[in-house]
This record gives sequence, structure tokens and C-alpha cells, in this order.
Amino acid sequence: MSTTEPLQPHTSDAALQALQSVYGYDAFRNQQQAIVEHVIGGGDALVLMPTGGGKSLCYQVPALIRAGTAVVVSPLIALMRDQVQALQQNGVSAAYLNSSLSSEEAYAVETRLRRRELNLLYVAPERLMMPRMLELLDQTEVALFAIDEAHCVSQWGHDFRPEYIQLSVLHERFPDVPRIALTATADLATRREIISRLDLHSAEVFNDGFDRPNIRYRISENQGNAREQLKRFILNEHEGEAGIVYCLSRRKVGEVAEWLCKQGMTALPYHAGLSSELREQHQERFLREDGVIIVATIAFGMGIDKPDVRFVAHLSLPKSIEAYYQETGRAGRDGLPADAWMAYGLQDVITLRQMQEQSQAEESRKRVERHKLDAMLGLCEMHSCRRQALLRYFDDDLAEPCGNCDNCLTPPETWDATVAAQKALSCVYRTGQRFGVNYLVDVLLGLDSGRGYERIQQFGHDTLAVYGIGTELSQGEWRTLFRQLISSGFLSVDYEGHGSVRLTEAARPVLKSEQQLTLRKMLKVSETKKSKAAAHFSGGSSRLWDALREHRKKLAEEQGVPAYVIFHDATLAAMVERAPQTLEQLGRISGIGERKLEAYGESFLEVILEFGEESSPKADTVAESLVLLAQGLEPLEIAHKRELTLQTVYRHLALGIEREEIDLEDVIEIDEKSLRALSTAFEQQEGSALKPVYELFDGEYDYGVLDCVRAAMKRASA
Ligand code: ADP
Ligand code: ZN
Repeated sequence: MSTTEPLQPHTSDAALQALQSVYGYDAFRNQQQAIVEHVIGGGDALVLMPTGGGKSLCYQVPALIRAGTAVVVSPLIALMRDQVQALQQNGVSAAYLNSSLSSEEAYAVETRLRRRELNLLYVAPERLMMPRMLELLDQTEVALFAIDEAHCVSQWGHDFRPEYIQLSVLHERFPDVPRIALTATADLATRREIISRLDLHSAEVFNDGFDRPNIRYRISENQGNAREQLKRFILNEHEGEAGIVYCLSRRKVGEVAEWLCKQGMTALPYHAGLSSELREQHQERFLREDGVIIVATIAFGMGIDKPDVRFVAHLSLPKSIEAYYQETGRAGRDGLPADAWMAYGLQDVITLRQMQEQSQAEESRKRVERHKLDAMLGLCEMHSCRRQALLRYFDDDLAEPCGNCDNCLTPPETWDATVAAQKALSCVYRTGQRFGVNYLVDVLLGLDSGRGYERIQQFGHDTLAVYGIGTELSQGEWRTLFRQLISSGFLSVDYEGHGSVRLTEAARPVLKSEQQLTLRKMLKVSETKKSKAAAHFSGGSSRLWDALREHRKKLAEEQGVPAYVIFHDATLAAMVERAPQTLEQLGRISGIGERKLEAYGESFLEVILEFGEESSPKADTVAESLVLLAQGLEPLEIAHKRELTLQTVYRHLALGIEREEIDLEDVIEIDEKSLRALSTAFEQQEGSALKPVYELFDGEYDYGVLDCVRAAMKRASA
């Protein structure tokens, strides 16, 4: 905003006006307004808000209103650049300073800062703490300090950044400048740590909770073919959409990425073992192109601000609930439906436990980590609402089960596993607590041939009472049971690395029949249906939607920015839904501020006018075409008469067919054989887009004809 504009007398008016004119949003969300007003008034704040909740606006809007430059401390370079690009798109003067800039570039930014031309300056923490930088700030006017990802100050947290500790200096040096610290992951202990380390004792705490209601949590068992499970999940529910797949090792990252590519998806690997150019390149493609899947170790993701990630999949178990929540939290930042999907197995549990025990960390640290892994395993094995458990972990409460996690949607069956557990535990005991799960399962099943049997004989275990005592369960079921016993702490895994298991104290009451054990039955891969909102949103079949995305992509490429920096999916979806006909109507759509309306309004309007009418025609215009058809006019004649495109007329007629107001034969003449060929083509493809069928037949059938055939099929199957 230009500095010549007079400030509004009331902070709330000025703030709201900035929100509407700069961002194009109608209203503040949840506590945003209170936070913004508090900071504009000079108060310190600690903001706890879920990812995607809208934390950035909490400091950006005050930055626009308060005099001087707002200094934003952020731990990651990619994030800074994205945020600055997004701000510039909205016409806000912003820049960043970090190690990615050349010294000339940095100097230019410093000059703009000194000239007080910047509304916002993003800085890496280590840079901010340099004496030169602090002196520079002394000479200018600082509007506020925003400390993003404030949980990085926590020493026990998983994102600890030593440079963050020094940020307490800010308060001593600039006592009158308000500070706002923000985070999306902090349990009570972490919150206390943030307050004490950043000296935020007098800050007002704004707690919006951490819930991410648009994310659907699903945790399933790796049934030995996790990759297949993943493929089915992606193809059934997220074909052509952006997602992240997390794996534990670099090797697995490579394999999975390659395999997904072979299945026809665009999947790119990302891990610390790849050259920095390659990593950069893959990250860029993920950010800029539509529908790229990134397969990564946890090295990927911090600072990734892409709003339209539709799924996060874990092919292995995260180390803690914090890690799980943060990684899955990268899905659906735009608030549209998204999935957090995981398949995990026995080997994950064993590997993670071993890694922990073998690490060089101090015992106190190991204890914390063990505790965190246990909590994560508890989340996997539980049978009630997962969201409630997740939120409870962050000291946040959800009164009712969520209805949007796998346990809520398809409540798992449980079974009384007491007797089976007793058999498993005594098998561990009788064989001397020296063997791994595979061997124990062989003994329980009474394996009587092959190498495995030889081993059993060698140890004389074929004479034990537990030999062959467990034929009522399958091999897979026993492995699941062992995993559950390990997860729940009845068995511990040998730390020396052989994967042998031993009994813990907790096993005793079960063995003595003093404790009942109820465990979840593993479901066969459950195929939950796409949520309604998702189905509604992914207007994949709408040509307008495709055309808008195409146009957005073109603009983004021209400017070298990610597509969502131009407009979010949600904004495009609103264009499809409302089909605005004038610039003024377009400007009312959420996410289109003054600057973007000026820069892109005309060109998007053109796309809408070209493709718009066919996508959501009003009832009366459909009826008019149907009436003309009934009067004996051909589609082409209707088009001429009504000055519509032929395409649009066919769209009307297709709707008429779908609603059983007319029949296919009323519109087109088509022989049985062609009709059957077309029907088969539609049936065999995923979704109901026209283009693939059009191309399949090399354009032999016009889009309008295809549209009508599809409508007839829909009606037949309804
Ligand atoms: P966070 O940093 O908390 O993860 P962001 O600040 O990136 O979240 O905001 C998430 C998304 O919500 C962004 O696309 C942002 O523009 C949008 N958003 C934030 N506040 C509002 C609002 N009041 N109205 C509409 N959209 C909003
Ligand atoms: Zn639930």
C-alpha cells in the first residue's frame, strides 16, 4: 500500500480494508482479527494456529498498517521466496535476505530497507543476529518482529534450530517493537518453552487449536505390498493431483519414485543424497507444475508452502506424533479436502526402535524419543477416533469423534486377543528370548519342512509345547499380533540389532491371565469413497476448469512463479462455480485483490467467457434450447438462432438427456456399434472427461456428440 494514504482512525477498519483490497478476502477468519488488532496496537502475541489456518495474515496485515518495515524471521529459504513472490503479486513491497542472494542483491535489498521502501522483510535467523544487520535495523523503523515456526526454539522438539535461541535479544534491543511468534505444532511444554526462551511472558496467547478438519487421516497395515496399496490409493482418489510420499530410506525413495513413474505417474525423488541442483529442480517442478508427486525422505517439506497438496502418504512410520502431524499437515493448506494416508508394518517398528537404541544420543534424550515413538504407535493401533487422539496429544480437545478419519468412517472390528497373545508371549519365553518374529511365527505354526524347519530342529524347538500351537491364525495374522504386542510394549526388540524380541514387565499380567487384551482387527484395504466435497471440487471434467488451469500455468511460467502464486485452486473453483461475466463480478471472488484483478482480470474473464456458459448453464437457458429442439430445430440451427456456440447447445441437450427430459435419439443419430464403442471407452477410463475419448477416436466424434452419449450413460447407470 502506498504510504501517502491516510491511516484509518480505527485499526479494525483499516485492517479489514487492507484484507479486502490487497488480498481480496471478505473477512478475517477465527481469531485473525483479534490478533491483528492486538499487534497493530503494539502488543506481543503468541499465535497457535493449524497449518493453513492463515498465520501469515496475522503479521502481514499489521505490517501494512503500522509504520516502518515488518521483519519476519523464517527458518527456510524456499518459504521466504514463495511468500515474497505472493506478496508482490498482491502489490505489497516485500523482500528477503538470506544466503541464496548474491552480495549485490543483498545490498540492493538493504538499500531499499534503509530508504524505508519495504513493508516486509523476511530474514533467516542467523542473518538477523549478525551485528551489521541489527545496526541496520537500528537505523530504520521496525514495524514489528514476526517469528514464524516458533517451535524451532524448543530443544526437545524435532525442528530445533540453535539460532532461534538468540532471538530473545530482539526484545532487549528493540523493547518497543511488538513481537508475534507463530506455530502450528506445540504441546503445552513446547508452548512454555517458546514463552520463556523468546521472553514472551507478557504476550497474549491466541489459541485456535490445531485441528485440520479437511484432512482425512487413514492408517492401514502394510500387507506386504504397500506400493500396490499406494498405487491404488493414488489412482482411485488422487489421479493427476499433487502429493508427497514419505519413505524412511534414500534407497526406498529412489525405488518408489521409479516404480510410480512406471505406473504412469509423474513422481520425482528427493533426499539428501541427491545433488543440490537436482533437489532444487525437483522441488521447483513440484511447486510449479500441476500434479507432480514428490517421493522423499523427511528431508523434504519444511518450508514447503504449496497450498494444493492433495495427499501426503507415508510408506513408513514417522518417529513421533509431532513429525506425523507436521508431515501430514502439508496436505490441504488451501482448506479443500485432502488425505493423510499411511501403510506401516512390523519392520518399521523394529527398524525405528533399533535406530533409536543405537543412536549416540544421551540416555535422557533417548528416553524422550522412545516415549514419542510409543505414542505414535499407540495412534496407529487405536480403534477410536484418530483426530481426537492427535489433538489430545497437543493438549487440544475435540468433544466428538470427527467423522473424517478411517476409524470413524469404518470402525475397525476388535477381537479378544488374550489367548493368542499368551501363546505368542510364551513362545518368546520358551525359545529363550533370542529369536526374531519370523522364527517365532514358524514355531507357532509348527513349520515342518525346509530351511526354517531345519533351524527349528537344530534348536530342538520342535519338541516344545508351543510348537504348532498356533495354527488357528495365518502367518500374516501372527505378524500383525507380534507387531501389536511390540507397539503396545509387551515385547521389546533386541537392541543389539538382531531383531530378537524379549518379554517386558508388562507381559506378565497377560501371561498370568490377569489382563485381557483387545486388539484391532486389521481390515482388508478399505476403500473409502472420495469425500463429497472432493468429488464436487475436482471439476476434472469441466473444460472451463481445465482452461483456467492452463491459463494460470501459462502466466506462472511467464513470470517464473508457482501457479498458486497467481491464483489458488479455490479461487479458480469459485470462477467455475460462479462464472462471472464482468470484471466487477470477478473481483468479488475470494482471493482476487485489486492488484491481481488489474493484472489478470481481463485475461481470466476471457477464458471464462469462452468456456463458461457450457459449464453451469442456468435452468432457463437449457429449457429454451430444449423447446427449440422440440420444435424440430437441429442443434446447429438452435445455435444460430440463439447466437450460442454449437458446443453450448449440445451441453444443454446433454443436460436434458441426463434429466430424462429428452432421449439421446432425439438429439443425435448414431448406430449401435459406434454407441457401444463409445460406451466402452467411457467405462474404461478413470473419471468422465471427454477429451481422452475424443482423442481415442481421433476426433471422429464431435465433443457435443460425446457429451450427449456420456449423459445417456450417466442416466442409464443412475
Ligand atoms: P499458515 O501459514 O497458517 O499455514 P497461510 O497463512 O499460508 O496459513 O494461509 C493459508 C491459506 O488461507 C492461504 O491461502 C491464505 O491466503 C488463506 N487465508 C488466510 N486468511 C484468510 C481469510 N481471512 N480469508 C480467506 N482466505 C484466507
Ligand atoms: Zn475420527
